Amino acid sequence: MFSWFIFFEDKLLLHKEADGRVSIPYSEQAPLMLGMRQNPHHVFMDDGREVLALNLTEPVEDTEEWEMRPLRSTYYLLPFGDYLAAGKAYEIIWWDKHSQYCPVCGSTMVQHTPIMKKCPKCGNEMFPQVSTAIIVLIMKGDEVLLVHNKYWKTQFHGLVAGFLEAGETLEECVRREVKEEVGLRIKNIRYFKSQPWPYPSGLMVGFTAEYESGEIKLQEEELNHADWFTIDNLPLLPQKLSIARQLIDWWIRKQKSLS
Ligand SMILES: [Zn+2]
Repeated sequence: MFSWFIFFEDKLLLHKEADGRVSIPYSEQAPLMLGMRQNPHHVFMDDGREVLALNLTEPVEDTEEWEMRPLRSTYYLLPFGDYLAAGKAYEIIWWDKHSQYCPVCGSTMVQHTPIMKKCPKCGNEMFPQVSTAIIVLIMKGDEVLLVHNKYWKTQFHGLVAGFLEAGETLEECVRREVKEEVGLRIKNIRYFKSQPWPYPSGLMVGFTAEYESGEIKLQEEELNHADWFTIDNLPLLPQKLSIARQLIDWWIRKQKSLS
């Protein structure tokens, strides 16, 4: 028996339970007699589970028993372990789709292991590629720096974040992103934790830091607001699934324990 993580684009197939909850289908064969154009991917989780991932060419229609929901929303619907497995399954499917042909010589790639493909002509090997990004919570006395990105659809405020560049350490990336986005210098950069971010294939690495010097100067191509906030005047915060929110919640707990 396997857990089946079945996607159409970014939507995951869920089984509706009698009590109103949803679950990941668990069966020997693919549920719903889905026509399979390809074999399912075997995905191995940190907890020892082996699950199957399948990419559909058409969505499954909503019924009394089944529905498809965006991956992001399943954080709030599924046990955390299943949400993580869904994210990994999605990253594998996305990788498979984007590694059909060898980027060196154009031949059709051949899958060798669940996470490795090899070009039969030139020997080029491809593994799922992860885009690494940093995110940093900056503290100044009893205040925290929160920013609003001009491309965010809602009015919440989050943290300074950005992609790691080639040849850069994570700490250098943190310093550079803060300088570029808000014009500040920071010190005491400390690792917080990391989080897979399967939208579509990222790793977010969280840090905390302290303000050192400078005035806020916005990078206007990216941000339209940034300011210092105390625990008493916080704006709308990011959703619970993000590491941004986990960093902010950590800071809120810290402030409360100090007061
Ligand atoms: Zn090749």
